[in-house]
Amino acid sequence: MCGIVAYIGHRDAAPILTEGLKRLEYRGYDSAGIAVIRGGELLIRRCVGRISALEEKIGNELTGATIGMAHTRWATHGAPTEVNAHPHCDASGRLALVHNGIIENYRVLRTFLKQHDITMDSETDTEVLAKLVGHFYDGSLENAVRRALREVRGTFGIAVLHLDEPDVVVAARRGSPLILGVGQEEYIIASDAAAIIQHTPQVIYLSDNEVVTVTREGFRTTNLEAMPVTKEVEEVEFTLEQLELGGHEHFMSKEIFEQPEALRTCMRGRVEAQEGRVVLGGLTSVARELVRCDRVILTGCGTAWHACLIGEYLIEEIARIPCEVEYASEFRYRNPLVHDRTVLLALSQSGETADTLAALREAKERGALALGIVNAVGSTIARESDAGVYLHVGPEIGVASTKAFVGQVTVLSMIAAFLGRRRHMSHAACQEYLADLGRVPDAIERALKLSAQTRQIAARFVEANNWLYLGRGLQYPIALEGALKLKEISYVHAEGLPAAEMKHGPIALINADMPVVVIAVRDHLYEKVISNIEEVRSRGGHVIAVATEGDEQIGQLAEDVLYVPDVPGPLQPLVTVVPLQLLAYHAAVPRGCDVDKPRNLAKSVTVE
Ligand code: GLU
Repeated sequence: MCGIVAYIGHRDAAPILTEGLKRLEYRGYDSAGIAVIRGGELLIRRCVGRISALEEKIGNELTGATIGMAHTRWATHGAPTEVNAHPHCDASGRLALVHNGIIENYRVLRTFLKQHDITMDSETDTEVLAKLVGHFYDGSLENAVRRALREVRGTFGIAVLHLDEPDVVVAARRGSPLILGVGQEEYIIASDAAAIIQHTPQVIYLSDNEVVTVTREGFRTTNLEAMPVTKEVEEVEFTLEQLELGGHEHFMSKEIFEQPEALRTCMRGRVEAQEGRVVLGGLTSVARELVRCDRVILTGCGTAWHACLIGEYLIEEIARIPCEVEYASEFRYRNPLVHDRTVLLALSQSGETADTLAALREAKERGALALGIVNAVGSTIARESDAGVYLHVGPEIGVASTKAFVGQVTVLSMIAAFLGRRRHMSHAACQEYLADLGRVPDAIERALKLSAQTRQIAARFVEANNWLYLGRGLQYPIALEGALKLKEISYVHAEGLPAAEMKHGPIALINADMPVVVIAVRDHLYEKVISNIEEVRSRGGHVIAVATEGDEQIGQLAEDVLYVPDVPGPLQPLVTVVPLQLLAYHAAVPRGCDVDKPRNLAKSVTVE
């Protein structure tokens, strides 16, 4: 998920590689490493932290090599430590490999390798691939890579070097980007053109399951069956900055648009719809205890707390286990009722949120099974929890959380089915539910088309200083999340409420200057929400409805309607949140707000 740069040519490789990594720094990473071949030796340096730390570590030690590769890691399997950092070697120590992505069947492959007496030094999925390529090596690196990749399930962008072929770089991809820069008798391979364009604008975009073998004299592209593939050399036309943001003006918008892909990664290897099975490797060790639990407490702060509210509904509805949601900051100072059949789910994007960490510790102390649901691998919550599930949505840079939120809700949806299936959810019901979950990324893709319309709506309300967000049932947390997004990045006051609560007070606020966003999708509460819309309208309020595609009735009631695709009830929040994220974003931009770094906010809240 992070960065790869490889070089072969006539110049000094190490500075080109570290420079390249710096171009990819914006993607966020936790450790880095480099390998070069010089004078019959494979030299590897790795370290935790910044590229500058790696540069310091290298000093002049690698000077003079003209072939090499480097990597920034955003850990998915194993904590960000030096041992887990890439490059990883094969059993002979003559082959080195860097990898972006996730090898889903690494456990099976590890068992296979063990039968051949090949053992691992690190906790990563990547090392298994390095060892596997080495295992198949019989004089042709290209063939060994192809052979190994045919066994692999998951996503990868890889680059590989072998001491026996000191003038060859082999690279390949599936589901993780990889680009070959074609220079004058030199080539640069990178996961992002940002690391290439200062050397050459000529590039080849590799497609999935393609392998490229590069020497100083030229390159050859093939597929996994060794059939040659002809590729066009294209010219990169973007500036560096545009590349980093992938054409978006801000990381927040980039991350909103990344959500379909992020969720596909989050579910990859976990949702097996046809088998009606959820595979959550991180929970295997505690599965029995988890299934026996009689109470679940979900805890988090801010956006994660909203995800908890949805999780409460999902776990109660699908797994039929009593749930409650607690602000992490409150939990720790109450005298909470926790016993050994209580399970605590602690949600935090960074895994470092101080309040959530304290709640986790408190619950553990009192004998609960404490599980972490975090994005950052190896973070404190990940380390201190008894077990857990990673979001795997990739680094989130914008301070206002978007893709981590949908990742949290998706993980909770998977946990609900994981538990439900072990209690009383039928096989058929689980198959259907998981098939529906698998279609959510496509539905989000369609919802993203609302961007232009939300921009127009937001533009009409630049003067509005107060917004109201209403929703019922599962859409109530989405109303809260929509309001929070607007507050966070545009500094406009907004309130989220269960729609029926409005008449118990907040209705006094409604007038023609007050936009009221109502989530009114076709579910069992639809008619009730329509009545709430009528109440707003009769007081002159301006209604912006989020409704189900094909609902014509609502067009007569609301001034603006944002139509989202219909997905089954429990999964709807994953789709309805999208137009609200977009609305907040488009409200903030014309106000000149610093969208990615809103005032007074921090990405990882490590204080109480
Ligand atoms: N899954 C690999 C790891 O955890 C690669 C992560 C990455 O893409 O940086 O080491």
